[in-house]
Amino acid sequence: MSLLVLGSIALDTVKTPLEERADLLGGSASYASLAASFFSPVQLVGIVGEDFPQENITLFRKNRIDLEGLQVVPGKTFRWSGEYLWDMNQRETRSVELNVFENFSPELPESYRSARMILLGNIAPALQNHVLDQLTRPHFVIADTMDLWINVAKEELVRLIARVDMLILNDGEARELTGETSLIKAGRRIREMGPSFVAIKKGEHGCLLFGENQFFSCPAYPLEDIHDPTGAGDCFAGGLAGYLASRQLDALDPSKKQEISFELLRQAVVEGSVIASFNVESFSMDRLRTVTSADIAERYGIFRTLSRFEGL
Ligand code: AMP
Repeated sequence: MSLLVLGSIALDTVKTPLEERADLLGGSASYASLAASFFSPVQLVGIVGEDFPQENITLFRKNRIDLEGLQVVPGKTFRWSGEYLWDMNQRETRSVELNVFENFSPELPESYRSARMILLGNIAPALQNHVLDQLTRPHFVIADTMDLWINVAKEELVRLIARVDMLILNDGEARELTGETSLIKAGRRIREMGPSFVAIKKGEHGCLLFGENQFFSCPAYPLEDIHDPTGAGDCFAGGLAGYLASRQLDALDPSKKQEISFELLRQAVVEGSVIASFNVESFSMDRLRTVTSADIAERYGIFRTLSRFEGL
């Protein structure tokens, strides 16, 4: 089953304490689509300008990412620039150029409207709601967001949260959204806003998954060298959603539709964490270009070992 992915497609400039790189392929939809493509085909919804390098289009195509929903319009691609401090968990945005994003209003191609598994990647919540409005029978909708939207578009975001099955956000955002300092209380409060499931990411400290009276704490992979943390959150969301899509092969036949259980989501959260851990090993999507299924399976096994311990 295909996964529909909405989000930003960007050309990023990233500065870390050791290196600076410009014009990198970035954006929430780019990271999420490539991450998801390890598990399922993707239908990508986004916009780029005429300056968007052809090699990026080729990369998408090579990885079974369908581009019927990609608009290429006159003008410049969205640009973002960020700088990481010595503590690579801390990032400052240096500049944002909306460019073609300014007038983006995604209209889904006919063939995308019946999508069943959806990832509304990080982008303005009004656009996430607009895409949701066009879907005829979504089965499972996941939304990702960021602090910016809590600050500038909270009402629209709250409207979106009420409509989705799962929300993904990081610890600071969960605290900001709910006004709770405890992440456990924040997870519960967000579930009360609508979604059956909530994943709260804690950067290099793993992630918490909340369901109805269910809770899972996913460890973080102990990476020694992080080269570029950009897109880790998007890869987490994309890997998770792509894995779920791969397990919903029969969802078109309602009698065979597999329920999205908490057990399946636990696996999906680990798969998302595995892909995110690979992604930060290199700038942009460089590492994801070379990762193999065997690499993913091996690291999944390491995640299992990390969180297993004997009973008393
Ligand atoms: P992350 O590291 O998961 O926060 O994602 C980083 C990516 O988000 C970068 O590649 C940026 O191009 C993209 N990005 C930054 N700001 C925005 C924004 N306001 N809307 C959509 N995407 C953004």
